[in-house]
Amino acid sequence: MFEVNWTHDKGWGRPLICPIHNLSLHPSAKVFHYAQELFEGLKAFRGVDGNIRIFRPDMNMKRMRASAERINLPDFDGNELLECLKKLIQIDADWVPPYGSGASLYIRPTYIGTEPALGVHSSKDAMLYIICGPVGPYFPTGAMKPVSLLADPRFVRAWPGGVGDKKLGVNYGPQLAVQQLAEKMGHQQVLWLFGDDHQLTEVGAMNVFVYLVNDRGERELVTPPLQSGLILPGVTRLSLIQLAQQWSEFKITERAINMQEIRQLVKEKRLLEMFGAGTACSVCPIGRIHYKNEDIIVPGLPEQESLQLRLYKTLQDIQYGIVPHDWSVII
Ligand SMILES: *Cc1c(COP(=O)(O)O)cnc(C)c1O
Repeated sequence: MFEVNWTHDKGWGRPLICPIHNLSLHPSAKVFHYAQELFEGLKAFRGVDGNIRIFRPDMNMKRMRASAERINLPDFDGNELLECLKKLIQIDADWVPPYGSGASLYIRPTYIGTEPALGVHSSKDAMLYIICGPVGPYFPTGAMKPVSLLADPRFVRAWPGGVGDKKLGVNYGPQLAVQQLAEKMGHQQVLWLFGDDHQLTEVGAMNVFVYLVNDRGERELVTPPLQSGLILPGVTRLSLIQLAQQWSEFKITERAINMQEIRQLVKEKRLLEMFGAGTACSVCPIGRIHYKNEDIIVPGLPEQESLQLRLYKTLQDIQYGIVPHDWSVII
């Protein structure tokens, strides 16, 4: 693991890479009481040429600094942290699974307030660390398996002015009971709705995309806009938008889309595909939404026409170095 400590008086200490170990923190440490915690998630891939690549890590550093600002942990130099992260992966290179296995090395930068004091104040001590470990392929069979979602408007993940656009631990603990409810009902993920009109916001810890035929008869890829506090600015989300913009065979729109529109699209056979996007799965097809005691079946396009499959393959080609791209950083 990598670790570095910060204190109010001395600033940042010496960064260290050492064997993974338990932490020893005072029971009154801020992180345990006021959840002064944030994290990031990215992956290292073993490419077709044997090189190890990480995907747009500068975006993770930028987002991590934005999260730190919101939870009032001290700022840091993103480039320096990225150098430390690369060094850690170089040392742990043997843990990056082989090309072709579909597996990768998951990397989890974490940042916590450690000051032992119960006052509701920002921590005067902090610790930033990075751990990593191999993870299997999201789709073990290789084929993309559509997931089923529970959309229950009683539960809200985030709201304008809130912190849903930051990767803070406080956003995830309260999701666990809802995720478990979804699983008990036979679904894999939660579709988080917001507002009286039940707008789609995110799928579990993924951004959401809807591929549809609009009322002018054009194909359009829709994703909810990055509204402050409401939507997590995913690196995958941005990358899919940027890829799709280059293809220019359909419109790409960042706009609100609600459950009524989804129902209408299904009824008029204008819903083509729906998918989640995030580091864990890259692109995850949606097959069914349980909403108001009704199962909405989301179709999918045949392989040659499928947008989600094309996006998935294009990302994979970039991440595994099959197509050279400056989004993939060799370490
Ligand atoms: C991490 C995360 C995402 C996806 O972000 P990526 O950078 O693409 O991995 C989307 N939504 C939520 C709520 C997340 O926590």
